[in-house]
Amino acid sequence: MEELSRTGFERVVVDRDAAGAARSIVVVHDTRLGPALGGVRVRPYPSEDEAVSECLALARAMTVKAAAAGLDLGGGWSIIPADVSDKTPERLLAHGRAIATFGGRFIPVNDIGTDQADLRKIGEVTSPVCAQGDPSPWTALGVSAGIKACTRFSGHADLRGLRIGVQGAGNVGSALVRLLVQDGAEVLVSDVVEERATALAAETGVTVVDPGELPTSELDVFAPCALGEVITPDTVDDLRCRIIAGGANNVLASSDLAGRLRERGIVYAPDFCVNSGGVIFLQAQILSHTEEAARKQVLKVGDVISDLLERSESRGITTTQAADELAQARLDEA
Ligand code: NAD
Repeated sequence: MEELSRTGFERVVVDRDAAGAARSIVVVHDTRLGPALGGVRVRPYPSEDEAVSECLALARAMTVKAAAAGLDLGGGWSIIPADVSDKTPERLLAHGRAIATFGGRFIPVNDIGTDQADLRKIGEVTSPVCAQGDPSPWTALGVSAGIKACTRFSGHADLRGLRIGVQGAGNVGSALVRLLVQDGAEVLVSDVVEERATALAAETGVTVVDPGELPTSELDVFAPCALGEVITPDTVDDLRCRIIAGGANNVLASSDLAGRLRERGIVYAPDFCVNSGGVIFLQAQILSHTEEAARKQVLKVGDVISDLLERSESRGITTTQAADELAQARLDEA
């Protein structure tokens, strides 16, 4: 187990196999508000450095997300850098043992490439783990509340007739599509695994779009619900949407892109706030709150986004800066 020193992070660990290859990365960014909650992501990376970088960015985003949502949780993240086909029970147990060295300061939850059965396997060797109740529908509920806050801010009383593009027909994306259809939006969906998009379209009547075309389609709302870094310096000027609000983490490849979006008049709901419904639900579970209480808390994501949009407008700052300030104020208090 190798400890990496990274400024501003409480602990960064890389667990290696006998050949020296990274088999697990676990990061705890900040536990001033409470134990760090974070995903377990399984996917291949071109290099160990890229896997560590993503893990650090996601851990930090979790701290800000929990703080901005008013939760008593910190931020962390963990990665198994492998193809999902190599996700063996032994690998999950090794990951659990790496997490166990944090002594309960990191609470893992499922993310891309993992499900609750995987979390239960990890829970055989470490505690606590979040393995009950899928947070994805709650993340989607929060995103839909955030989208409505953005469209209201742009002068639309409701979603009827608005053209919304959802990138990714996975756990969050598909739940979001169902909610948007119920609200009368015209929904376009894309997924690199085409059958996921077509199955969702067959169920809901939405339109399937080529994954390469969706981000730059003419849209009222672009909702990224796949991987991060969707908006890059190369793509930002090609966007033809009025609002960006989705479930994915780390939507912007770099934070300065929030300024470019603002210059272009594109309303941006900071990812770590608009996608906080799942974390809100998980804290409600940890505290044994009822589902109805959790629902009310998750719907408040809309109020947080409205507040950030107003602060951004009145103070001439980006919505991301407004969200960072809100989170930092809570962390400083702690
Ligand atoms: P998922 O793996 O179930 O779904 C992601 C989907 O995106 C997959 O179907 C995948 O094929 C598709 N995809 C990948 N690249 C794509 C591309 N370029 N274009 C179109 N589709 C693409 O994952 P999920 O649990 O739905 O999470 C989606 C995102 O939301 C992730 O970034 C995750 O970190 C974030 N998130 C999830 C939750 C949650 O509750 N699950 C909470 C907060 C944030």
